Amino acid sequence: MSRAGSLREPLAAAARTLAAAGLVRATSGNVSARDGDRVAVTPTGAVLAELTSEQVVVVGLDGAALEGEGRPTSELPLHLGVIERFGAGAVVHTHPPVGTALSLVIDELPCVHYEMHALGGAVRVAPYRTFGTPELAEGVLDALEGRSAALMANHGAITFGDDLAQAVERAHLLEWVCTLYWRAAAIGEPRALGADAMDAVRAQLHAKDYRSMLDMSG
Ligand SMILES: [Zn+2]
Repeated sequence: MSRAGSLREPLAAAARTLAAAGLVRATSGNVSARDGDRVAVTPTGAVLAELTSEQVVVVGLDGAALEGEGRPTSELPLHLGVIERFGAGAVVHTHPPVGTALSLVIDELPCVHYEMHALGGAVRVAPYRTFGTPELAEGVLDALEGRSAALMANHGAITFGDDLAQAVERAHLLEWVCTLYWRAAAIGEPRALGADAMDAVRAQLHAKDYRSMLDMSG
């Protein structure tokens, strides 16, 4: 089994975790993880809540199928684009209830909580494009510049990280922040944190040596 082959079970487990949390439903959403020049990805058409390691597909960085019988997710070009452009170790694309709802309305999720330092600050909303197209991937990649998360207009959300655990945690964090913003906006105008406040957060993390939390600031 290749090194990326060893990612097949963790990848399936991540997909099941996202489904159990309600961030993906049925066959929507997809996950990838890189090991060297190979990438393990969820297959198209699979129910993520029941995904097994045998169903996970392994492709090369050029998208060529290497292991597994199914076809890779239709969003494979998006995943490979994030891996290539940002050096991501793992990519998580979800259709989360609140994040997707906000993507119908807002152009950017303001930086309303200091935990958003892990996402790179305010989260952009990429323009709507048909799923699985190069145009969608291009818009999302631009929205991710300097960030580790983006919303996708009338579609969903995407996060990436150094590894699966970090990318999945950021997917949970993004949906939590979206929920926070939605609740606050229902009762008033949410206050956003400015650049000075976020600089101070990063300085405090350095001072406290919270190395594992210095996701986007290094
Ligand atoms: Zn999607």
